[in-house]
Amino acid sequence: MQVIEYPKKMQELSEQLRREGKILGLVPTMGALHEGHLSLLRRCRAENDLSVMSLFVNPAQFDRKDDLAAYPQDWEGDFKKAEAVGVDLVYAPTAGMMYPEGYQTYVEVEALTRRWEGASRPGHFRGVATVVAKLFTIVKPHQAYFGQKDYQQALVVQRMVQDLNLDLEVIILPIIREEDGLASSSRNWNLSPEERCAAPVLYKALQAAEARVRAGEQGAEAILERMREIIEAEPLAEIDYIACCHPMRLEPVERITESVVFLLAVWIGRTRLIDNALVEVPAQA
Ligand code: AMP
Repeated sequence: MQVIEYPKKMQELSEQLRREGKILGLVPTMGALHEGHLSLLRRCRAENDLSVMSLFVNPAQFDRKDDLAAYPQDWEGDFKKAEAVGVDLVYAPTAGMMYPEGYQTYVEVEALTRRWEGASRPGHFRGVATVVAKLFTIVKPHQAYFGQKDYQQALVVQRMVQDLNLDLEVIILPIIREEDGLASSSRNWNLSPEERCAAPVLYKALQAAEARVRAGEQGAEAILERMREIIEAEPLAEIDYIACCHPMRLEPVERITESVVFLLAVWIGRTRLIDNALVEVPAQA
């Protein structure tokens, strides 16, 4: 497994591989790899001649310095895990290489980023869209893999690719969960044992919502109220937002007559976790 640090070197290699007719896949990550990442990496490996993982904790997408400082890091473990699933190449630049002195160009996706994560974390999606656009330009993948775990992010990336006519396919893969339903996340490393026990409450709330939609309930507010009750019953949990939305536009939905996505962000102690569930509405009898 090759590790490349310099953007120019990565770009030259990608260009050469493309000239040789190789199909390139990219999985962007911020490291501290877990089963969620590994599912994307395995799929990337299976579907491409060469699988590239980027490993870059992108300062531009953190709205709080303390959050960036607390972000878990385990490069040695990451390299081992990446190698074990057959990653061919790791692109791991420094912040200075991605944002050298004088850097001043950013990508902004508009309406889709105004709510939810975008509202709670100002500037977050500007940082995400910018770094993903740069990674696409540097690695030049034919296909790039993202997780549904970061639902709004996946839509933002798809939108950017469409709007900027970027020549690649974005593939979104399902959420990988721990045995008790907690969505795998690098941030789970920061949970104390007590907080770790409390964290599956996000999934419990999503499951309750899903069950009620499947049972034919249409009123979003009543379902959201039930989700709040479930989460508020957990003393270590504090809700940032819970929403029932249109699955593509992410606008709030009041009456559930078509597929919806439930999005939530919840603080468990000092760690902020996000999760979501895309729910199909049963056909009317
Ligand atoms: P991150 O390192 O957190 O930026 O995540 C890198 C990629 O892995 C993103 O596309 C995430 O959506 C995806 N990802 C993170 N957690 C999961 C999960 N539990 N299941 C599936 N994909 C995930």
